[in-house]
Amino acid sequence: MTTERRAGSRAWFERAQAVIAGGVSSPARSFKAVGGDPPVVMARARGAYLEDVDGNRYIDYLAAFAPLVLGHGHPRVLEAVHRQLDAGTLYGTPAPAEIELAEELVRVIPGLDQLRFVTTGTEAVMSALRLARAATGRRRLIKFAGTYHGHSDAMLVEAGSGAATAGPAIGGGIPPAVQADVITLPFNDPEALRAVMAREGREVAAIITEPVVGNMGIVPPQPGYLETMRSLADQYGALLIFDEVITAFRFRYGVVAESLGVVPDLYCLGKTIGGGLAAGAYGGRRDLMRLLSPQGPVFQAGTLAGNPLSSAAGLATLAVLRDENPYPRMEALAAELETGLRALAERVRVPLTINRVGSAFTVYFGRTAPVTNFREAAAADADRFARFHRAMLDEGVYLAPSRFEAWFVSAQHQPEDIRRTLAAAERALAALP
Ligand SMILES: *Cc1c(COP(=O)(O)O)cnc(C)c1O
Repeated sequence: MTTERRAGSRAWFERAQAVIAGGVSSPARSFKAVGGDPPVVMARARGAYLEDVDGNRYIDYLAAFAPLVLGHGHPRVLEAVHRQLDAGTLYGTPAPAEIELAEELVRVIPGLDQLRFVTTGTEAVMSALRLARAATGRRRLIKFAGTYHGHSDAMLVEAGSGAATAGPAIGGGIPPAVQADVITLPFNDPEALRAVMAREGREVAAIITEPVVGNMGIVPPQPGYLETMRSLADQYGALLIFDEVITAFRFRYGVVAESLGVVPDLYCLGKTIGGGLAAGAYGGRRDLMRLLSPQGPVFQAGTLAGNPLSSAAGLATLAVLRDENPYPRMEALAAELETGLRALAERVRVPLTINRVGSAFTVYFGRTAPVTNFREAAAADADRFARFHRAMLDEGVYLAPSRFEAWFVSAQHQPEDIRRTLAAAERALAALP
């Protein structure tokens, strides 16, 4: 049935494989981790739905890997983008949209005195790390196994997300000298961090983490863990960087750092702040941001950085999120899904653990113990996930094609979508054990 129903996808993907490396512009989009079919080729999207080139519709829990908190094609975002299109897409000069977006971000994010726009989350992280190294005069970086901070050399050491499913060859092209400067620790292990800082803290430029990890599935920090990071960074003169590329504006209007009560020295932003277009930003303490060219010696630039089109989309997205506060509703729907999936799995005796924070959650098959770090996340059953993924796809539910990603509920999902998803999951789970 799948071959018939997705013949168009198959044909397009064959063309893609001839001219695009691996047929995809980002490895996480491939179906390598879930086996079987070629990836689905989408033709359009609206609200909470994706539609493929064969006309099949899917309830979308991918949200394009997180940015689409508002779902697809929100009328106010479309209107803002159309208005900016008419006024020009790129000037190569400062423009009101980027200035207004920066003002709003600085207004709502604690400790964000100033920022600099870039085009992707990868660049935001790369640039924040350069700034941290310049500010401290140190080289070494501490990160955590299973987090993902984009694909810059240093950040691919033991990374999560697409890099975690890509296999052992992931270090290709990364010089050993770069790897040697990166210390990777297990997340949620304050003793490991304390020990490393006691040994090497005076050489560490920055500790970087996702405050709530989204790239080994959803893994929240244990109580006190981020506070420990904050105080160890201060004690040894290292900077604390929160990569909120996924988390900012996903769980609340603003950053999750505020909910968790810890303020970093620098933030990395992306995804949602571009409202579905390309945007990233990094920023924080004014004394650090002053080191950037043209004021200081740290160079970083971008032809498309802060472009008016992305800024307009981001600004409109933020305006809707602020005006409508969809967060409690999104969280309630995600909680309903979580509870429903748990009950269905119990009935057919499929063991699983679900980690949920707000409107995002991850299902770890084959685990009954909590998942608090990458080792535990990686122990989840890849084969069961792959079969569940395929069954859900055939049921018209689009999940991220990796067990290290999350289900994202958007502001446009309706209770009826949740009911249909649970009905689909009931059939998919029954076929699993
Ligand atoms: C997606 C992601 C990035 C990279 O952003 P890109 O825009 O894909 O370069 C960085 N950090 C985190 C936490 C992410 O989830």
